[in-house]
Amino acid sequence: MKFIADRMLGKLAKELRMLDYDTIYYRGEDAYPLIKLGREEGRVILTRGTRLAPQRSEDRIVRITEDKPSLQLRELIQRKIISLIEEPLFSRCLECNTLLNEIPREEAEGKVPDFIFYQQREFFRCPQCSRVYWQGSHQDHMRKKIEELFGKSRACDLS
Ligand SMILES: [Zn+2]
Repeated sequence: MKFIADRMLGKLAKELRMLDYDTIYYRGEDAYPLIKLGREEGRVILTRGTRLAPQRSEDRIVRITEDKPSLQLRELIQRKIISLIEEPLFSRCLECNTLLNEIPREEAEGKVPDFIFYQQREFFRCPQCSRVYWQGSHQDHMRKKIEELFGKSRACDLS
């Protein structure tokens, strides 16, 4: 399942990428490109607005009712629009949704904190925005998020 999130849902877009869902973050105000991209790329539209309504049978629009960004991911899970994957793949840039490339370890030196460089074996870089990631970077984010949403016990199950 692929998504396009409207301008109100930037945090949710990042969290979906963390779970490896292909998610475009659309910052514009005009609703038409949102619908158009949804159709062209088969994306489910996530919106906080109330104005957007499906115009064709293929339009899939999910209206997020939760105000708090920290609870919007939980809303998607509770409504069974997404499920928590047990082992996220950590393959997507959190900032720009691009698939990451693995890079030789020495190329990460100086681009990540020293202790991370010594601790980690595998590094990945976003070909679009050049951010460098490592396995733990996504895992730590996600573990924290899952703790927030479901309490500590669930997060332990996943580790
Ligand atoms: Zn990127």
